[in-house]
Amino acid sequence: MTFEELNLAPAIVQAVHEQGYTAPTPIQAQAIPAVLAGHDLLAGAQTGTGKTAAFALPILHRLTQGGTQKPAGGIRALILSPTRELAAQIEENLRAYAKHLPVKSTVIFGGVGMKPQIDRINRGIDVLVATPGRLLDLQQQGFMDLSSVEVLVLDEADRMLDMGFIHDVKKILALVPKDKQSLLFSATFSDDIRELANGLLKNPQSIQV
Ligand code: AMP
Repeated sequence: MTFEELNLAPAIVQAVHEQGYTAPTPIQAQAIPAVLAGHDLLAGAQTGTGKTAAFALPILHRLTQGGTQKPAGGIRALILSPTRELAAQIEENLRAYAKHLPVKSTVIFGGVGMKPQIDRINRGIDVLVATPGRLLDLQQQGFMDLSSVEVLVLDEADRMLDMGFIHDVKKILALVPKDKQSLLFSATFSDDIRELANGLLKNPQSIQV
């Protein structure tokens, strides 16, 4: 299997090759076609399996309609991550994958000043990576419009719940449109994760690596 065979935009294939990736990892080979086809996804995967690209590449492809168009209007993809380190890592990867695309991303997390984050959001962002607490803070202060989100990713959902973010996550789910594509990644599946997944995902494809 090659990235070309996954029918990703040439600009995306070029960017992953520049990252030194020669072939998709198993989770990428399974997740990318499902996400490109518009399915919701329930994915069991640990860190280190290549799961970031598994969601990021098809999202970038879809937002740019095959790498050809600039996404219009507002935050179109929202990626929730439990920690600032993971959030920053995801956004760094996204930037590398979107290197040849007209897509703007940013990352927000707690523990640092809000002003630079608000300024970046106000300049116009297509893809937002966020930790739940800071996202809600900015939303409650009126700086965050989530009404144009069409793809939502919950990354490391088990860690998010272990860290006590369940209420924050549920509040955020109430702020994004109901009609969207949702992708949930978790290393483990407790009853709480299953309940969250059942409430969020519609006819999900399940994959496990
Ligand atoms: P992740 O599980 O997304 O944190 O990725 C783990 C590591 O694998 C990161 O350093 C990625 O840059 C790298 N990686 C992701 N996909 C591939 C691939 N298809 N080939 C080689 N390395 C990859």
